[in-house]
Amino acid sequence: RYITIKTHINHGEPKESHFELKTAAFGLSVELGSNDVIVKNLYVSIDPYQINRMKSYSPSQKAISFAEGIALGEVIDAYGVGRVVASGNPKFEKDDLVVGFITWGEYSMIKDGNMLNKLDPMGFPLTYHVGILGFSGLTAYGGFFKVCKPKKGEKVFVSAAAGSVGNLVGQYAKLFGCYVVGCAGSKKKVELLKEQLGFDEAFNYKEEKDLKSTLKRLFPDGIDIYFDNVGGETLEVAVSNMNTFGRVAVCGIISEYTDEKRAAPDMIDVVYKRITIRGFLAADYMNAHADFMSTTCDYLRTAKIKALEDITPGVESIPSAFIGLFHGDNVGKKIVKIANE
Ligand code: NDP
Repeated sequence: RYITIKTHINHGEPKESHFELKTAAFGLSVELGSNDVIVKNLYVSIDPYQINRMKSYSPSQKAISFAEGIALGEVIDAYGVGRVVASGNPKFEKDDLVVGFITWGEYSMIKDGNMLNKLDPMGFPLTYHVGILGFSGLTAYGGFFKVCKPKKGEKVFVSAAAGSVGNLVGQYAKLFGCYVVGCAGSKKKVELLKEQLGFDEAFNYKEEKDLKSTLKRLFPDGIDIYFDNVGGETLEVAVSNMNTFGRVAVCGIISEYTDEKRAAPDMIDVVYKRITIRGFLAADYMNAHADFMSTTCDYLRTAKIKALEDITPGVESIPSAFIGLFHGDNVGKKIVKIANE
């Protein structure tokens, strides 16, 4: 069984009716090519960017820079962890644990083993390799250290701070010696940030009547770094509160994925304050992967960093898990458990 889209999501939020659970015969007796691997999926990542692949594209149009658009009825590739059940690819053997691009389904037929690697769990739960030690972790690490180029004592603002990437950015920034404020969409998330993840301050953006004065109060000396996960009004207001030579890392703009209203930061602030606004992809920082892994594994082993995970069971729960990202239902990394290890 696998999840696919029944209709494209060209406007607004994803709904259950956009998705469909399909069944396809999957024989292990097929002749496997020299790149082919069949994987039993164990855990799959649920990521906001997938919505940008679920719009309708003409055949000549590329959906997003690093991934194709998803055709109706097609299997959807996604990051995750699984176990090899059959392999024609010399890189993998039956029963190997693997991490990389599998699918939103129970089994994956991988035609290109380049997007898959053998996994050594190094004593950590397999789910950590989907989230904190996977792409979310690398995004937070590369985005914060390489794009934001922090200095100790700088003032950092993070949006979607109780989400998968955001909570890690805040934790890395605190461990590095920055002052950190996060915003998130519920009281429970705000408490979590302050009481369990060590954020200096946090607020519920849904209750803010005047975001500008909230940021002025929490950053009396201005913002040096804004790690943007949401775009929209939050980006505009953060820019207007930034210091000279401030840096904005545009990681994602989730508020704009479902709402065509675009952020328009006041460019006069960008000019006079010489602000750098830079987008990035986690994949840009593969050369920092070894540093990222050794630092983060060390923080985990010494309990300096917490892995925040939100796991629901069953392939059929993928649509609701995905839809929930756009309503703030998840706390930390959203993962769907497909099968027992
Ligand atoms: P999250 O775990 O942060 O989940 C998404 C969260 O976004 C929700 O929990 C919700 O939290 C918040 N949210 C949803 N809608 C809105 C809205 N309209 N306004 C403000 N907040 C909203 O997801 P990820 O950590 O996986 O991703 C975070 C961002 O980073 C996304 O924009 C994603 O596309 C991007 N990303 C970029 C990568 C890159 O390589 N550049 C790689 C991975 C992710 P709340 O309750 O606070 O509203």
